Amino acid sequence: MTRDLPSSSKYDRQERLALWDQHIIEKSTILIAGVGGTGSELAKNLALLGIGSLILVDDDTVEFSNLNRQMLFREEDVGQKKAKIAKKRIKEQFNPDIMIKEYADKLQNIPQKIFQEVDIIAGCVDNFLARQYLNAMAIELKIPLIDSATDGYFGQIQYIKTSKTACLACETPPPPDETRVLTAPCTLVGVPRVREHCAWKALYEFNAKYEREPVETSPEDIVELTKLANTCAKKHNFGDFKKKELLQLILFHVPSLITVNAVTSGIQSQEIVKALFLEKKEFLKETVTLNNLIEAHRFRIPHFTVYSALTGTLNTFDLVPDPNCLVCGQSNTVKHVERTITVDRELLFKSVIDIIRQEYKKEYIGFRGNFLLPEDESVQKIISDGDRITLSSIADDEEIRLEIKFRD
Ligand SMILES: [Zn+2]
Repeated sequence: MTRDLPSSSKYDRQERLALWDQHIIEKSTILIAGVGGTGSELAKNLALLGIGSLILVDDDTVEFSNLNRQMLFREEDVGQKKAKIAKKRIKEQFNPDIMIKEYADKLQNIPQKIFQEVDIIAGCVDNFLARQYLNAMAIELKIPLIDSATDGYFGQIQYIKTSKTACLACETPPPPDETRVLTAPCTLVGVPRVREHCAWKALYEFNAKYEREPVETSPEDIVELTKLANTCAKKHNFGDFKKKELLQLILFHVPSLITVNAVTSGIQSQEIVKALFLEKKEFLKETVTLNNLIEAHRFRIPHFTVYSALTGTLNTFDLVPDPNCLVCGQSNTVKHVERTITVDRELLFKSVIDIIRQEYKKEYIGFRGNFLLPEDESVQKIISDGDRITLSSIADDEEIRLEIKFRD
């Protein structure tokens, strides 16, 4: 089969590779959640590979302490939004030909229809809640997620694909000790099995209560967080947390190395390219040469990859999905029902919620990764066309996933 010439001979050297299809790359859209240490490296790699379109999401601002590793940023950028600067620098320095949209906002505030437009989600976030949110979104929308995390000398990459791999909330046996698991355990619902789960629950509760992340430098926030964690620890007969221990556990600012970021994001970028190729099934059918056929059999994405800069080792594992997982479980008793509701564009958030309550009579309303508390409903929030609301009840095992559509 002959292929059209690529849009530019700039990609000539990579196109000489067996199994490479530059057209697939040029037609793809990747959402990068977080353009910090790993995310800025990843954005640079994907831009140089000639990806069609990038969506950058990050609500952080550039800090002076980012400049030892986040090469998209300079001293003059300190205090500015990372997403905005990242877009500008990628265009200027790495590839003026690609489309880039930037969102200097929290991940949870990005309308869901933006996620629906993408081929792969790349997770490069530095916190547990954002990572769990990405995971749930990827599973729900059936978009592959390739997530990464780094901590000092260690980096990890995890591939998540609905009903094919374990997700971040699955109960899976941890990899061998040397490799350390960076993905925080997920037992946000149910009984905490180990003391650390109380720390994560506390963070989740804090976020649900105040609708923001706790601030590391705020003594009030840390006192509140410790109180929440210790209430849980006491209830389940675990020992109390000291403030410092809790801070270390929740890892506000983990040690970071450019070398580890570069290795991790390099692997992550490559897995993204492979996932794009594998998603386009017709592409593999076109691999007619013997060499390509042999290579095609070797084309696979490990579910979990861990890099240790201490020992220079790279380990990969496959993780079996947990059938009872609350996010992706197939034998999970919760039945998911898809519905849409059409509302007037001008309606206030509260009015929309009132209509939904009237219609569905479910007591739990989930919006952008959190359950709404009664006092939240009166808060003026912005609701966008294509947003999703989840409705559930303790009375039954049915979860309604309601898509909001604006009336024209
Ligand atoms: Zn799962």
